[in-house]
Amino acid sequence: MNGTALTENEIIAWLREEDPQKLEVLFRKADLLRRQHVGEAVHLRGLVEISNICRRNCLYCGVRASRSNIKRYRLAAEEVLEGARLAADFGYGTVVIQGGEDFSLDAVFVAGIVREIKKLGLAVTLSLGERPEADWRLWREAGADRYLIRFETSNRSLFDVIHPRVGKKDSFGFDGRLGSLLTLRGMGYEIGSGVMIGIPGQSYRDLARDLILFQLLDLDMIGTGPFLAHPETPLGKAALALAAAPDAPLEEKWKLAADAGFDYPIPDDQVPSSNLMAFKVIALTRLLLPDSNIPSTTAIATNDAVHGRVTGLMSGANVVMPNLTPTKYRAMYEIYPNKSATFDSPEETHRKAIEQIREAGRTPGTGPGGRRGSPRGRF
Ligand code: SAM
Repeated sequence: MNGTALTENEIIAWLREEDPQKLEVLFRKADLLRRQHVGEAVHLRGLVEISNICRRNCLYCGVRASRSNIKRYRLAAEEVLEGARLAADFGYGTVVIQGGEDFSLDAVFVAGIVREIKKLGLAVTLSLGERPEADWRLWREAGADRYLIRFETSNRSLFDVIHPRVGKKDSFGFDGRLGSLLTLRGMGYEIGSGVMIGIPGQSYRDLARDLILFQLLDLDMIGTGPFLAHPETPLGKAALALAAAPDAPLEEKWKLAADAGFDYPIPDDQVPSSNLMAFKVIALTRLLLPDSNIPSTTAIATNDAVHGRVTGLMSGANVVMPNLTPTKYRAMYEIYPNKSATFDSPEETHRKAIEQIREAGRTPGTGPGGRRGSPRGRF
């Protein structure tokens, strides 16, 4: 481990820090470490959202299974490959295939897509939730390089409440999530994880422990972003009710959340779901894991379309993930409302990403952009 040693209390102090001059010191330090360890290149990962069908009912997510008023889709192989070819044409090094936990997304079908994308000379990252080990192995054999699966929060009781189990035999649970990451690493994938910032119920200590867990897991990729309230989800409804009653006593807040379908005590030090908090998290993550790949995420860009992504890049991030899902499907992958770039053409999405990279004073990366020095980063 070559990261900075920070104690839980030191991390909490930084997360609570509000003095702009002191924060500037944190952001500069993170930016310097970023430059020393991963350089000036910003890696571009073309994102293709393969399916919004999901068997899970995560309390925060707009594509949760029980949401009946959205159109569901699953891309044809050719539509995924169209996105991959665009990524190759734009000079990106990686395609990220992400989707709901859609078990009708056949493992052999996905393996075929991975094989085709590898022929384009691109790295392939998958983010398709928890699947049988045999599927992950098949995809790895087909050439998939990396797998993303966020643990969302390291607070077990909060994790359990926001991730209801699907049936009695469901292995899903906090231990299952961590186990998945370790299994994937054992198969030779580079592994990525992350959390949402400011989910109702999250305390500063919870968030500090999330960061320590990133370091303990020695993650190759760490994606974090603000929780964005989707008004048609229980957690989104709870967040909106809580925002409308900021001065209510804690018992009253718990009741408001429970009435919205999220039965969990709201701490007196609830973390805000702000971009400033997201930038602090990016900077601290860079301190803890200086050579990891850290995106300036879509959730950050959604909170602030003008400055979000650039500020993330200047706070320690070194990756952006332009959305190359065929435009007609984008609005249907509505994990939260007003998602950044929902209506942009691929060319516009690409142009904006390059502009933002330049605005941050950086250069677009070339090559697949695996983690440097990692025994698993094969590039
Ligand atoms: N199904 C896969 C999984 O769960 O790993 C991948 C797709 S899932 C929609 C991708 C990520 O979206 C989740 O890990 C979660 O952190 C994020 N997400 C979902 N709803 C969100 C919300 N309301 N605000 C912010 N991020 C959200």
